[in-house]
Amino acid sequence: MKKIKLIIVLLCIGVLILPSATQAVTLKEYEDMVEKYTKELKEKEAKMAKNDEEVAEIKAKIVDIEVEITKAEEEIENLKIEIEKSNEEIKDKEKESKRLVQYFQVISNENTYLEYIFEADSITDMIYRVSVVEQLTDYNKEIMDDLEKLIQENQQKTEELDKKNDELADLKKELNSEKERIETENREIEGTIPSTKGQIEYYQKQVDYYKSKGCKSNDVIGVTCDKPPVSGGGGNSDGGAGAIIGANGFRRPIVGGRISWYYGNGHKGVDYAAGCGTPIYSVATGRVYYVGNTLDAWGAKMVLIVHNYNGRLVFSQYAHLQGYNVSVGQNVGIGDVIGYVGSTGNSSGCHLHLEMSEDYGWVYNGTYSQYTSHIINPFKYVPN
Ligand SMILES: [Zn+2]
Repeated sequence: MKKIKLIIVLLCIGVLILPSATQAVTLKEYEDMVEKYTKELKEKEAKMAKNDEEVAEIKAKIVDIEVEITKAEEEIENLKIEIEKSNEEIKDKEKESKRLVQYFQVISNENTYLEYIFEADSITDMIYRVSVVEQLTDYNKEIMDDLEKLIQENQQKTEELDKKNDELADLKKELNSEKERIETENREIEGTIPSTKGQIEYYQKQVDYYKSKGCKSNDVIGVTCDKPPVSGGGGNSDGGAGAIIGANGFRRPIVGGRISWYYGNGHKGVDYAAGCGTPIYSVATGRVYYVGNTLDAWGAKMVLIVHNYNGRLVFSQYAHLQGYNVSVGQNVGIGDVIGYVGSTGNSSGCHLHLEMSEDYGWVYNGTYSQYTSHIINPFKYVPN
């Protein structure tokens, strides 16, 4: 019992969803897109500003580190000078000691200070002489020991400063790579900004256009507002000589020529081989919404038309044109020449490529992928 109820509920939901799937796009969806991309742009700009702040902080830290490194280097330099000075003083003291010994040798008129000591005329004199020499040399030795201690201390300080400098250099390197990482991230974000701005511009233009056509937020574009003329009526409905017209009001887009490639197996449309300059007619009454060669990657000249078939949007695309005979916004009937067969874009000879879709049209109300997933065999509408 529960299962049956569930199935009924699911079926009801399915029925509710299905019609909306063929209803294409509301103006609100465009408004939402403007909002979405504007939010995205703001987020990107905020992230970039935050990153810029971080980079500024890192740069300040690097400057501080550089100052510290310079200071430490100066200290090391001073310590080296002091070590040198102490070494000089030790040498001086050594010389002084030698000189003292020599002095006693000279004043005792003997060759060695030992002789000076043993020349004493009394034991008291000898003790005195020994003590004078010893005191003087002990005194110098003490100074030399102190100086050696100072040198050791200074050398230790130098080593510590060297170590500190190495650490500072490592830190500086880390900060620099962090700075580079953030800067790279910002460049990447910056690179995506034009496309985000392009999306905002594109959807804003759509919103403005359909609002100018009287569309409200909940209107379905082309279906409940800005409706294209109903196919089968309006415009020039006389197909002209040689026109092959179906009961549904759709016609073959050219007179004569031959079908050189059918729809399917990777071919998204039907190719009609015909001489360059052959007139091309709209397959049904409709409204031209794109004329140009900027949509196609290979620069094919194209005309895109939206049709209103029993309230459903049907789209037709004519590619590789030699030239155009219509402009955007123009309503056309099946007797109206829209352009001429050519070989522009990725083409190896004069032919017309006709491509058709339902509900979603490329740059009308859908992205390229939305559009391609709604492509149909043109023969569903156009007589073979
Ligand atoms: Zn083709």
